[in-house]
Amino acid sequence: MDYQKLAELLFPAVTETPEEVETKFQPRNLPEGAKVTRFAPSPTGFVHFGGLFPTTIGERLAHQSGGVFYLRIEDTDAKREVDGAAEGLIRTLAHYGINFDEGAVIGEDGTICDKGAYGPYKQSMRGPIYHVFAKKLVAEGKAYPVFTTKEELEALNATDKKAEIKAKDWHEDQSEQREKMLQARQITLEEVEENLKFGNPFVLRILADGDPEKKIPFTDLIKGKLEIPENDEDFVLLKSDGIPTYHFAHAVDDHLMGTTHVIRGEEWLPSLSKHIMLFRYLGFRLPKYMHIAQIMRLDENGNKKKLSKRDMGANMDDYSRMGYAPACVCEYIMTLLNSNYEEWHMQNPEKSYTEFPFNIKKMSNSGCLFDFNKLNDVSKNIISRMSAAEVTRQVTEWALQYDPEFGAQLAKDPAFTESIFAIGRGGKKPRKDLATWADAKPYMGFFFDGKQEDAYPENFAKADIKQALTLFLATYSPADDMNAWFEKIKEVARQIGYADDMKLYKANPDAFKGNIADVSMFLRVAVTGKLNAPDLYAVMQILGECCTRNRIESMIERLD
Ligand code: GLU
Repeated sequence: MDYQKLAELLFPAVTETPEEVETKFQPRNLPEGAKVTRFAPSPTGFVHFGGLFPTTIGERLAHQSGGVFYLRIEDTDAKREVDGAAEGLIRTLAHYGINFDEGAVIGEDGTICDKGAYGPYKQSMRGPIYHVFAKKLVAEGKAYPVFTTKEELEALNATDKKAEIKAKDWHEDQSEQREKMLQARQITLEEVEENLKFGNPFVLRILADGDPEKKIPFTDLIKGKLEIPENDEDFVLLKSDGIPTYHFAHAVDDHLMGTTHVIRGEEWLPSLSKHIMLFRYLGFRLPKYMHIAQIMRLDENGNKKKLSKRDMGANMDDYSRMGYAPACVCEYIMTLLNSNYEEWHMQNPEKSYTEFPFNIKKMSNSGCLFDFNKLNDVSKNIISRMSAAEVTRQVTEWALQYDPEFGAQLAKDPAFTESIFAIGRGGKKPRKDLATWADAKPYMGFFFDGKQEDAYPENFAKADIKQALTLFLATYSPADDMNAWFEKIKEVARQIGYADDMKLYKANPDAFKGNIADVSMFLRVAVTGKLNAPDLYAVMQILGECCTRNRIESMIERLD
């Protein structure tokens, strides 16, 4: 067979040589040991929580080593593409502080464009490049066409599917299918010409030379030492519409774009032997690989399940709706990614996670377990260390979007809002009330609406409560410092026959109708409408005399 001639027949429009293409993608000028990583999503929907793993790892490895982290949109499967998904993806990642040095970006007109010298960064724009390398493989006898008729394709009504189905058949097949493959390899130039004359479409397949009995030793940076059986499947490189498969695009793009480390989901591990073969056929240096395990969750029965697309917590946009601060989610991801992160963070509470020396060796090679409780713990810690001004800014921004009425209340007087979030902040043991911005309303909404959410527990006599509130009002002065204020509450307790000291009460509970904590609770419910609320003295100070009095008075009336 004259392979050169075959290549000309199949790709008459390709005039560039691979060498000419290579000159446009010069090796990057980076310091020794610098890593080049990428995130390569298919724009088929939202960013999955699992997608933040390779992204965070890629970003960390590149930026810790003085390398480059870029974004490539893998849109070769038009059927699965969702309109606007690529733009959504870029925005979501930016929201989580994941910024790319180069790659696909959103331009001023809102559409995707390129930033960097290794583009286009959208695979659908790279058609001619793939064809140059496809032609080379054909010319070297390493790939061959398999023709179908248009009718056959139309019958399936899915150009891409056709190629996929065929690839699958050949793979799963035993002897009959293998026979088919060997026969297809025998195609003659005359047959090719004949098919082309009729305009019959073809898929381009690799001519595999592997023997699955033989194993290739391979080291995955997460999975460790592996033995990969050689590939003997003539898998598809170009689909019948000329668009590359993931395998082919992966080899061509990651080579030309200079990727040093491919970080991707472990679902690609079974395809690795194909990629090893492709890089060898193309004469490309194989990048290093990290295959990341699926994220797991616990189901109702406590069994580990894959965190699937439909599960709560899978869609990164849900986190925004739920009011998780991006920094909290990123921090949580770091705790899942590196086993020593939490310890480091405890020793360096003021430092950003970007200062943590991320280490591949500290990654678990089995699936991380996603858990909202843990996320909430991490989140509470982080928010508790934010400044009141920062909390005010983020809560207000969130509420204006997701709870506009509440947002407007917060935004009306930012200094007032900030004074509320300042309660119990700072110091060694800051309050940890908020895991999400959505927690703010139940925590401090009473400042604005004065709604009574909780009723008094039934074991207290209304008369006692009323008397306590009335007595307090009689002596209340907003000028009191905290001690003076508390002394007054103690006095109220004594006057209504409640213990003014907990020790005293515990030593002889029968001697009292109740205790100082109960009296404080009477006031708390009157002022905040809740049984649990932030420090009551601070609350009264912020509400001011008038509002505090009004609320207590209206409670007294209601108790009548
Ligand atoms: N587009 C592929 C995916 O979304 C990318 C895998 C890779 O990173 O190579 O699974």
